[in-house]
Amino acid sequence: MFYSRYAPIGEQFAVPAKPNDFSNAKVILFNTELDTQLGLNWDLDTARSYLSGNRPLPGAQSVCLAYSGHQFGQFNPTLGDGRAHLIGSLITNGNEVFDIQLKGSGATVFSRGGDGLCALGPAIREFVMSKALSSLGVPSTQCLAVLSTGDSVYRQGELPGAVVARVAHSHIRVGSFQYLAMQQDSQAMLKLLELTMKDVGLQSNEITEEDIFSFFEFVCDAQCDLMLKWLQVGFIHGVMNTDNTLINGETIDYGPCAMIESFSFNRVFSSIDRQGRYAFGQQPNMASWNCGRLAESLLLLVEDEQVAIDRFSKILVGFSERFNQGYTQLWRNKLGILDEQPGDQELVTELLEIMTRNELDFTNTFASLTAIKINRQQAQYPAPHELDEWVKKWQLRIQDHESSEIAAVMQRHNPAIIPRNDLMEEVIRDFYQYGNSDVLDSWLAALSAPYNYDNYPEKWLLSQTNTKSYQTFCGT
Ligand code: AMP
Ligand code: MG
Repeated sequence: MFYSRYAPIGEQFAVPAKPNDFSNAKVILFNTELDTQLGLNWDLDTARSYLSGNRPLPGAQSVCLAYSGHQFGQFNPTLGDGRAHLIGSLITNGNEVFDIQLKGSGATVFSRGGDGLCALGPAIREFVMSKALSSLGVPSTQCLAVLSTGDSVYRQGELPGAVVARVAHSHIRVGSFQYLAMQQDSQAMLKLLELTMKDVGLQSNEITEEDIFSFFEFVCDAQCDLMLKWLQVGFIHGVMNTDNTLINGETIDYGPCAMIESFSFNRVFSSIDRQGRYAFGQQPNMASWNCGRLAESLLLLVEDEQVAIDRFSKILVGFSERFNQGYTQLWRNKLGILDEQPGDQELVTELLEIMTRNELDFTNTFASLTAIKINRQQAQYPAPHELDEWVKKWQLRIQDHESSEIAAVMQRHNPAIIPRNDLMEEVIRDFYQYGNSDVLDSWLAALSAPYNYDNYPEKWLLSQTNTKSYQTFCGT
């Protein structure tokens, strides 16, 4: 039923490694929907036995993957899974391939002095954020479960330990290619390319240089589309290093991420992002930069470097063009503008400037505009006078279309509810204190239908986050 997907690339890339056996582990969060989607149908005991490192998955060998990475612009040749074990892959009845990976499952050859463990807080954060993002329509890795290990981990103090069972369509990153390029291992890279191209439905037999360019274009498109989705919902990843950039365009690594709340393209929450490299508005540039690092790695497989550099550069220009088109369309969708007219971009810019000046909440501003068009009773958020003036202009701009038509488009692009940062902290605090959270179940249910304009508790809608002092940390 399970198999070792990355074994053909070689043991230098998929290094056999056993996860810790946490004999006191307990499943504290389980994603039943995902369990069904994968066709596992596990009860909690079965889940516990496989995901606590107690029992191997039948048919698969557990490995940790090697990768390199540009971390905040600096190349680190040997990163790899320092606290994760990929315990097996599976193909569902619907013919989809998934990997199951444990994170926080003990030290590996890639730990570089780290303990290989994960604290409960970041594990819960990953569970909630990945579920919320998937429901928002953002491609993402998902969490099958979170287990408490019963052991402590030591960070700023003693914390309860946890394991996250992460599920992804693939764990191949830009950094995976960088690793094989650094090793000058063209044979292994070709195998990795074949495997990756097959998984995403590209021609993968006897790969030609043309196929390599198509592959690169596929990755650029996937990254570009992901950036537009992050922008649409107000997601700040926080650590967009090349080792955290999946080839298939899924969001991975939820360490220091956060939702934007009060709007500014310069918003940064991550404590280690001091220069704002991965600020909200910088994300598309950085995704394109990361694609550039993939192109460099792929040069290992081409005959004529100069010709290939020209082709890769053109494709990267295509990234910007695709992004710019998507960007204009995104704001039209968020504002229910159903046709194109000169001056639209100015209207958008004016709104974004008002939002920045007044520190308006990103989600609530667009949700309020949507509510006007749905014509529903919706909590009224304090609006500055200049926003009222802007709303009049906007209403004039869209007056030629039916409100119901406008509302339908806006509702699809403006979530009413997002995983707000302060609530996330509250849920994590509850888990630390009581071992569970009263808020979590009902909150998760609401987050799984974020485009429903239901009557949610005010507390879920209004931001308590102090953007000046709120900080996120890598889950180390
Ligand atoms: P991340 O910031 O989660 O993307 O991790 C960057 C690198 O550090 C990866 O190679 C991780 O495997 C490694 N790493 C992060 N935390 C730990 C830890 N607690 N123990 C060992 N390695 C870690
Ligand atoms: Mg990572």
